[in-house]
Amino acid sequence: MRASTDQPQRFRVLIAHRQVGTDTASGRACAALAEEFARRNVETVTAAEGSDAQGIATSDTGLHAMLVDWSMPVGDDASGDAAALVDAIRARNERVPIFLLTEPEKAKTLNAEKLRQIDELVWLLEDTAPFMCGRVESAMRIYAEGLFGPMVTALSRFHRVHAYSWHTPGHTGGTAFLKHPAGRAFFDFYGENVFRTDLSISVGSLGSLLDHTGPIGESEKYISRIFGSHRSYTVTNGSSTSNRIIFMACIGRDQVVLCDRNCHKSLEHGLIMSGGIPQYMIPSRNRYGLMGPIYPGRFDEKTVRKAIADTPLSKGLEDQQPAFAVVTNSTYDGLCYKVDRVLSQLGPWVDRVHFDEAWFGYARFNPLYAGRMAMRGDPSAHDPNGPTVFCTHSTHKLLAAFSQASYIHVRDGRNAIPHPRFNETFMLHGSTSPFYPIIASNEMAATMMDGASGAALTRESIDEAIHFRQLVGRLRRQAEAKKDWFFRTWNADTVHDPSSGKRVNFEDASPELLGTDQQCWVLHPGDAWHGFDDLEDDYCMLDPIKVTVLMPGVQDDGSLGPKGFPASLLTAYLHARGIEVEKTSDFGVLFLFSLGITKAKWSTLLAAMLDFKHDYDQDTPLSRIMPHLVADYPDTYTGLGLRGLGDRMFEELRRTSQMQNLQKAFQSIPEARMSPADAYQALIRNRIERVPLSQLADRTIATSVVPYPPGIPMMMPGETAGAADGPYIGYLKALKSWDKTFPGFGHDTHGVEVHDGEYYVQCVKD
Ligand SMILES: *Cc1c(COP(=O)(O)O)cnc(C)c1O
Repeated sequence: MRASTDQPQRFRVLIAHRQVGTDTASGRACAALAEEFARRNVETVTAAEGSDAQGIATSDTGLHAMLVDWSMPVGDDASGDAAALVDAIRARNERVPIFLLTEPEKAKTLNAEKLRQIDELVWLLEDTAPFMCGRVESAMRIYAEGLFGPMVTALSRFHRVHAYSWHTPGHTGGTAFLKHPAGRAFFDFYGENVFRTDLSISVGSLGSLLDHTGPIGESEKYISRIFGSHRSYTVTNGSSTSNRIIFMACIGRDQVVLCDRNCHKSLEHGLIMSGGIPQYMIPSRNRYGLMGPIYPGRFDEKTVRKAIADTPLSKGLEDQQPAFAVVTNSTYDGLCYKVDRVLSQLGPWVDRVHFDEAWFGYARFNPLYAGRMAMRGDPSAHDPNGPTVFCTHSTHKLLAAFSQASYIHVRDGRNAIPHPRFNETFMLHGSTSPFYPIIASNEMAATMMDGASGAALTRESIDEAIHFRQLVGRLRRQAEAKKDWFFRTWNADTVHDPSSGKRVNFEDASPELLGTDQQCWVLHPGDAWHGFDDLEDDYCMLDPIKVTVLMPGVQDDGSLGPKGFPASLLTAYLHARGIEVEKTSDFGVLFLFSLGITKAKWSTLLAAMLDFKHDYDQDTPLSRIMPHLVADYPDTYTGLGLRGLGDRMFEELRRTSQMQNLQKAFQSIPEARMSPADAYQALIRNRIERVPLSQLADRTIATSVVPYPPGIPMMMPGETAGAADGPYIGYLKALKSWDKTFPGFGHDTHGVEVHDGEYYVQCVKD
């Protein structure tokens, strides 16, 4: 028989007291407590100093109770009590039991507010250890039982019961794997619990995801409360599926859909499946090639209806009510909308608005983002005559959940889809055997964001990102003082400090101001740093945790300066050192400061950036810093140094006007000959052929072409490639020439097959 790896839960308690470990009356009382706890199999952690206690209390999330000496001075607070420690604990955890150790005389300094924050007072020298430990233990038990949401609670309860199962999944708690050496190793690798909680709909006591019943249904209600929706759905196949569900529930065949051109592949799938006719809304772009928001004017009813009338595919449909509008919020580069402003434009004439917030699930939980997310404010304040609002979150992207975990949130307004009708589409895309750990982790992400911990955790990653940005800013300032260069982060150069009424340099601003004042991150019209012209004030905000590091080279007017290098050079350098980035655009590299980022992690990144600068300035041979590149392509890279390569790349960008090509290719939409759904019909009937770039002029594209950067579709299925000297083919030609000149730095363009350096695209047969 295999020994269990499953340990019964062991409680852990903090005793923070000045006299802990000393031979004093209080010290002996603390020792007696610890002894009694040990007898009850409760682990004790002690701290004799305020700062130590604070460190443990705020970082050890495995503590089930805190026993705190009220006379312990903490921090700079001169009041000589533990008030600051209690505040710090409650700022991240409203429920962990706090017992104040005090004496009747000292307790007089406690005010009503402090008493509300704590659970009980303990007279250390008067109460007996067994009595006190009993009180603490029962509080810990209640705390531990209330820690999880309904689904995780039910799952862990079921898991303790150990039923013999005769139902699917057929591995029955993992035992099937134990019959094969590889299976056994696999089982040991993942650990028992993942298998034991991989259950199915046959376990009636857990309810059903397709019917939204039992603890799973309760879990969706719990998520809905935390995220401020009228209804929320757990989806176990990513926001890709969540988006397709909303499309299929809202859009009928040949109905017009207002679609952000900055759209994820799943929206293309939604169009194909629903048979909707897209009318695209074009987002803005800046000089670094970063995609910005759709300007409010582009949501304007008259403008859009005219565009629908002027588009061959949708001509005649301009009087129809569009089925639906979808907007990506935030953009990949971290730009987020003032949602009320978007709805003030779309709401009066479009009944249903969908915000694809795959990267933005945490926004509701930090006041810095107030008003920037679909599920903003109180759901009961949602106007029943306003539009119905949908929102999708990839829980796994920037919250803590297993891959594929996703939410759909709904606030009902005009033309709402009642749950039974919506659920038909939900089931159409669902599975009868969803993975229960994904469902559980989707709830877990909500638990972590609930109450004080949501604000504290989001604030932590915001603070880390600010710290990094300010440090890069200071390094650049020092460098520039010596006429030297360094990277910059993409954010305001100066911010308004309301306390002094003055503008201060970003790197000198108080981190507290940057972490709490949204205006520091708003793109104000006329500010040079963001490069979006004609922007309405307050419309768009940069999310501090999405950090774009900019390379030198692009000037304020968008032209290339005398010196610089593209971002792919930094990305390759970092890759060679085991650091993977989120996204590389022409002159920017995106780093995500998610909940998992620590100081150690970003310090390593900063050290690598400093090393890059050193190697660039020294023109260190590539054979030393990127040996694989030189080994793979000796003809191109032998004898070249880092700066030499950067210079060559920069000159190539200048020569082929790649940036201008990108600007041109993404400021207009190619003419559409057929809908995405019709192009798909051609695909499955094999009425398509592979066409080389040299013959692509005027052909109809069968599958979308999405160059990275900028990671948004240049051509959608059914659209034409345009003239041979037009912007779309021009951009692809520039990319192809680049790939040939710099092997190993090739572009990844979805929808383009590369054979022997030639680009091929699937086209509909003429
Ligand atoms: C990632 C992403 C999706 C798809 O989410 P998955 O959870 O990966 O399926 C949808 N929309 C946007 C904008 C995304 O970035």
